[in-house]
Amino acid sequence: MSDSGTGKCSLDENLARCTCTYPGCPRKGRCCECLAYHWKSSQLPGCLFPADVERTYDRSLKRFLEIYGSGSGMAG
Ligand code: SF4
Repeated sequence: MSDSGTGKCSLDENLARCTCTYPGCPRKGRCCECLAYHWKSSQLPGCLFPADVERTYDRSLKRFLEIYGSGSGMAG
């Protein structure tokens, strides 16, 4: 997320909304790094998973598609 009008990411805002429970990750709040890191392994950031799945640390695209592939469970 960008802070108001500057066009720059706000680490504080990102940390405030981050739902990842993995302790000690250096990419926490750095969403671009988080996405790139997981995507290299066909995974997605923890924030895209429901809380009960996020807690398992299974970030795989396979798991994501099991949850959302049918279009069910989508946010919003
Ligand atoms: S989803 Fe992965 S890279 Fe992102 S903050 Fe959590 S453990 Fe770190």
